[in-house]
Amino acid sequence: MNKEEVLESVLHSDVLPTLSPVASRLITITAKEDTTISDIADLVSKDISLSAKILKVVNSAFYSFPQSIVTIQQAASILGTNAVRSLVLSFSFLQPSRSDEGSFDYALFWEQSLTEAVAARRLMAAIDKDAAEEAFVAGLLQNLGILILARAFPEKYQQVEQIIEKEGRIRSQVENELIGADHAYIGSEVTRSWGFPDALVLPLRYHSAPADCGCDATIQRLCQVVYLSGLISKVYRSNAPDTIVARFHEQAQKFLGLEERVLKDFLDNVHAEVNQTADYFEFSINEQKSIAEILQIANAELSVLNLSYEEMNRALVEKTVKLELLTAELEKKNHQLELLANIDGLTQAYNHRYFQNFLDQEINRSKRYSRSLALLFADIDHFKKLNDTFGHQVGDEVLRQFCDVCRAELREYDLFSRYGGEEFAVVLPETAIKEAEAVAEKLRLAIARHNFEHDHESLRVTASFGIFAMNPATESFTKNEMISFADQAMFQAKKKGRNQVVVYNSKKKWFGR
Ligand code: GH3
Ligand code: MG
Ligand code: MG
Repeated sequence: MNKEEVLESVLHSDVLPTLSPVASRLITITAKEDTTISDIADLVSKDISLSAKILKVVNSAFYSFPQSIVTIQQAASILGTNAVRSLVLSFSFLQPSRSDEGSFDYALFWEQSLTEAVAARRLMAAIDKDAAEEAFVAGLLQNLGILILARAFPEKYQQVEQIIEKEGRIRSQVENELIGADHAYIGSEVTRSWGFPDALVLPLRYHSAPADCGCDATIQRLCQVVYLSGLISKVYRSNAPDTIVARFHEQAQKFLGLEERVLKDFLDNVHAEVNQTADYFEFSINEQKSIAEILQIANAELSVLNLSYEEMNRALVEKTVKLELLTAELEKKNHQLELLANIDGLTQAYNHRYFQNFLDQEINRSKRYSRSLALLFADIDHFKKLNDTFGHQVGDEVLRQFCDVCRAELREYDLFSRYGGEEFAVVLPETAIKEAEAVAEKLRLAIARHNFEHDHESLRVTASFGIFAMNPATESFTKNEMISFADQAMFQAKKKGRNQVVVYNSKKKWFGR
């Protein structure tokens, strides 16, 4: 539907709010040039209950006239035609809420509208007292279009409210998208159809964009005042009321040129006037908080929100750091455990268990890639005697230094291990017998030349070496066979006089150097 079609369907809808007969008639007669104050007073006086209500308001602090006003005639001549019309219209709309109609919150709607009415009246009073009553009705009815759309299109309007709530979008845009017309257009056109004067119709039309109004100065001012009153009720609904108050300040100064002192007084007292006005109109609303209180609450909520967020964040960071430290610690411990499981405590050489596993892997690898693999056994000569002569502690120290000397001579990927006691096994991957023999010889010499220092004394030690190397291209042996052959060769070295290298030979011809 386009906006004209929406308007047509609204105007013919049976849910369109109706003006009271007095209000309706009053609109008609006030539009005529020759209408006198007496005509108006006569009309209003016919509705006794309405007259009583009007007299009550007129005599209240809402007006604070010095003398008491006892007749509508008197009221009309003191207040003027427009003020009486405004009062009648206000009473016509400020009826007890119809809470049984769908999801639309009528009580809240009129509560907000009353806030806007009071704010508009008070702002207008600060610049033009005579226009204050008109500002009140214009403020009160500025969002009448919302009420009309919500009654005519209840489901769609519920969606409009949900989208505004969820996505924070501009109301008119969502209304245009979902329904085809916005509340400013509908509100102004419906009241125009009721015969409302431009001074009421145009503020309804331009209440959210007073700059677009383009009408005469008086109505333009009314539009601005109504717009500003809308900001005030927005303060009560916004998540960031401080930004709305700041905007109000800025726009009120720009449009109305109000002094800071006047604005402060307005912001400090508008809520109290809303509460009082509800009383005068016998319209029940929730007690309105002061704007200062609204700002304080929002601030407190924000700081609580920030605080808990910061706290949460801090706790999370602490936990993460702790976890990272713990993980690092655990990795270190695991690594240490692994080392402990594989390393000989005295010499820091790989232990027997690790040697066995490593040799298994290397045998497989050598067979897979057809690469030769050498195994070297070393046994310290006359170690028992050394222990007996110098003591076990010196023996231990010799074992440690023996390992250091050997490791210094080996390649990174050779495995040096303590086979047991004073026997050591060295696995030499990708090493043929000739190279293995050279390695063994290098080790033998290094040991023989090394000064084993202990307690400022030094002693000499020798070792015997046995080597076996397998060439998987031509032969295949098990791990135990390899160990046995290397051990046999080492035993041969002992037999041949120690401090020498013997290569295992399958034909049992021992090759020494
Ligand atoms: P050979 O030249 O024939 O090898 O004679 P050996 O004395 O070295 O050989 P034997 O097997 O008779 O003696 C080995 C000695 O090594 C016996 C043992 O007390 C000593 N030994 C074994 N483990 C350790 C150790 O951890 N610390 C010390 N200090 N001595 C050890
Ligand atoms: Mg031994
Ligand atoms: Mg020995």
